[in-house]
Amino acid sequence: MASTTAVTKYGDLNNFIGGKPSSPAQAERAKRISPVDGSVLSTFPLSGTDELDKAVAAAQKAFPEWSSRTIKERAQVFFKYYELLSKNLKSCAEIMHDEMGKNLDEAMQETAKSLELTEFACALPQVATGDFEEVSRGVECHEEHLPLGVVASITPFNFPHMVPHWTLPNAIVLGNTMVLKPSREAPRTVLRIAEMLQEAGLPDGVLNVVCGGREIVTAIAEHPGIEAVSFVGSTKVAKMVYQKTTNRGKRCLALGSANNHLILMPDAHPANSAANIAASYLGCAGQRCMSACVLVAVGDCEETIAKIIEESKKFVPGVNMSAIVNPEAKASIAGFIDRAEKDGAKVLLDGRQVQPPKGLAKGCYLGPTIIEAKAGSEIAVEENFGPVLTIVRAQNLTEALSIANSSPYGNGGSIFTQSGRSAEVFCDKIQAGMVGVNVGVPVPREPFSFGGWKDSIVGGGDITGKSAVRFWTKVKKISCKWNPDRPLLWLA
Ligand code: NAD
Repeated sequence: MASTTAVTKYGDLNNFIGGKPSSPAQAERAKRISPVDGSVLSTFPLSGTDELDKAVAAAQKAFPEWSSRTIKERAQVFFKYYELLSKNLKSCAEIMHDEMGKNLDEAMQETAKSLELTEFACALPQVATGDFEEVSRGVECHEEHLPLGVVASITPFNFPHMVPHWTLPNAIVLGNTMVLKPSREAPRTVLRIAEMLQEAGLPDGVLNVVCGGREIVTAIAEHPGIEAVSFVGSTKVAKMVYQKTTNRGKRCLALGSANNHLILMPDAHPANSAANIAASYLGCAGQRCMSACVLVAVGDCEETIAKIIEESKKFVPGVNMSAIVNPEAKASIAGFIDRAEKDGAKVLLDGRQVQPPKGLAKGCYLGPTIIEAKAGSEIAVEENFGPVLTIVRAQNLTEALSIANSSPYGNGGSIFTQSGRSAEVFCDKIQAGMVGVNVGVPVPREPFSFGGWKDSIVGGGDITGKSAVRFWTKVKKISCKWNPDRPLLWLA
């Protein structure tokens, strides 16, 4: 916590309210320190509820005009934004890299995914068409998807560019106005999105960004001027936000934590499986809600496991592997490994003492870590959100599925096998929302929607795709009869 007058790369950041920077007079400021090299990047406000009230008022003011435009007109702004983002992919990726430590290649992949999500929102005029039917003789019923009003989106650190694109393009093209609360680890990444949308022609007040900590999240959940809240982050906070929001009769969809299980069968292709599994648990240094966390090895998988260790050694923190978002997260992940080791688990590859490359000594890094542990032990059950693959053993597919399905979470799951029968049984029995066969990170691409099961989500529906139309709109059903000659029938 501090205010700094020193010159930093991104300076003293402000909120973005009603199309203008807004700086709360009394608020404390926090420093954003880059996990890449430990440099101070910026300060940002820890806003209070006065800033939230201002943002909601700006969004309420913008709503009548924005919602009165046709959906095609609203989508036009996002066509322009798509062009702008395409030209600025690299600079957006660089901000993300600086702020939360994702390596540049992965940050580029993330901004490219934001483009794909924007593409979907641009197609909403084709997707969000209501049904029409002659329901009685001479009586037509049609439905309209209407915006809710002011809505909110609360986003996590690990996909600070993509997750806002899960929510804001769809919600806004559908006619809502929005308040967005970015993660404390990536405020500049999100403020840049708002600036580019303004440049694309989004009217003032349609998107407002309020930086801050826990207080703002609770205040969003409780604010009487906000109609619906989407949250993405850890399950503990997701449940709190869901409860506070729905207690007040609002809509909420809250995506939570994960501990994804991959099942490795003895007939899996060793080289392909190893490359996919290593990339899955090491991408973004394991800080992905779809990362491989637990590898359930069925029978003799020694050749593939040896290859996973070899593949993992190719990932070098600070070179081709991301940083850990902050020292607290690093200490928490290392704590999981320490406790597992004390508990008798075997550390097959140890990333705790990794040395960052020259010039990045103050950065925050952990190397690839592989642990063989007992099913049911802490490291195999709890989300550690780091570059750690925990291997547990099973005798057969039935036992492996029972281990995977005992997880309270159900975000993703994959099987590695060359047997169609095993793949079919896995897809049928695994209790997870996003499932893969020989795919390390089974994230569905647009137009398929994103969403897990069990404790990985609170609320109904998925966050993207057609499901988003239901979440961000209310449906009006209109029955009309124009021809007086038609007979009077039931409900006519
Ligand atoms: P987080 O829960 O700490 O933070 C998410 C948001 O909530 C942030 O904006 C943060 O400022 C706020 N917040 C944090 N603690 C709070 C509290 N006590 N009270 C009120 N607000 C609070 O999550 P994170 O560390 O930013 O992200 C990592 C977590 O998010 C992991 O658990 C990961 O699995 C999960 N995640 C899930 C998905 C998914 O699709 N299911 C996607 C990305 C991340």
